[in-house]
Amino acid sequence: MNDPILEKHCWAEIDLDALRHNFAFIKRTIGGPVCAVVKADAYGHGDIVVARVLQEEGAAAFAVSCLAEAKRLRRHGITVPVLILGYADPSEASALAQEDIATACFSTEYAKALSAAAVAAGVQVKVHLKIDTGMGRIGFAAQSDWQAVVRELEALCSLPGLSICGIFQHFAVADSLEPDAQTYTDNQYTLFRKVVDQLQADGYDTGTVHCANSAAQLRHPEWRNDMTRAGIILYGLDPSDELHFPVLKPVMTLKCIVTFVKDLLPGQSVSYGRTFTAKAPMRVATACVGYADGYPRMLSGSQGQGLMMVNGRPAPVLGRVCMDQTLLDVTNIPGVRMGDEVTVFGPGAPDTADTIARKTDTISYEIVCGIARRVPRVYM
Ligand code: PLP
Repeated sequence: MNDPILEKHCWAEIDLDALRHNFAFIKRTIGGPVCAVVKADAYGHGDIVVARVLQEEGAAAFAVSCLAEAKRLRRHGITVPVLILGYADPSEASALAQEDIATACFSTEYAKALSAAAVAAGVQVKVHLKIDTGMGRIGFAAQSDWQAVVRELEALCSLPGLSICGIFQHFAVADSLEPDAQTYTDNQYTLFRKVVDQLQADGYDTGTVHCANSAAQLRHPEWRNDMTRAGIILYGLDPSDELHFPVLKPVMTLKCIVTFVKDLLPGQSVSYGRTFTAKAPMRVATACVGYADGYPRMLSGSQGQGLMMVNGRPAPVLGRVCMDQTLLDVTNIPGVRMGDEVTVFGPGAPDTADTIARKTDTISYEIVCGIARRVPRVYM
């Protein structure tokens, strides 16, 4: 049994033409070099295949969250620059240098520790300075006194063992159309540019300047600077409920098979908790997907219930989503049989990663990142 589909009867189809289409759209609309964000296994789509395709298409760089993710790219033929957006331990200095991987440098304490480790290992580590202009996560906090931050950054430039290759920041609410959010985003950008401009005016080489995530680059192509960082739009999903880009093509479709079909009599219930009881005769199919595959249990049959597609027709979820199986109402779908294909979510199906996110009060990022490792990715 070498075919992963035969071993696990639930799989995620990854449409590489859709990925290419989204990348081409970004190149055409925004222009300039694109750093493809492929952290978290390319948002659940499979980092190696996604990165290889995007490298072929001309991605200028890749962004990941840690050294392990960066090394995977290097082991599998990714030769363009790779940047760790999150945390690389200073003890990893020599691996960073050996693999030619850059990492975010977000505080003087961190810079000194990384510099000391690099010197001890006899290597130079590439870093991108991370400025916190309002995301409030990591970074040199520029909101209260940006000139003090500039002085702090200038002092770092003389640290041995580090070579400064870039400077960046991250937006907190670029995906919101609320007027307050737009003002906040504008202020973040202004602050970032103040820091960059001052460093450059003082004669410091900042390297690659980048700041725009998916939402920011689509709304403000003029903010692209030397490079944009595209994540969610590569995968064809909207950055938020407020920003729709129908031109994007969703890359992932989650599918499974029907394993069992039965008739229910009035009064009979299905699944844990007996939350659904038939009021009239009905036909029920068991779909081979559950919350352990990443299908949220919150889509259990009640308010906000999931809708899958069986033989081209919508099939509502009945009762509680189980770990590996989910019950569907197929009363109105003629001829459903064991082995029939079910589209759990994806383009053309009633539910998409975006609608599931809405129903479960989260974001599409979490839906696609949450598709379990045991679900094989099948590249089309
Ligand atoms: N840049 C940073 C620092 C990030 O953390 C992320 C995603 O979390 C991105 C860029 C990409 O964001 P998006 O997927 O919204 O384009």
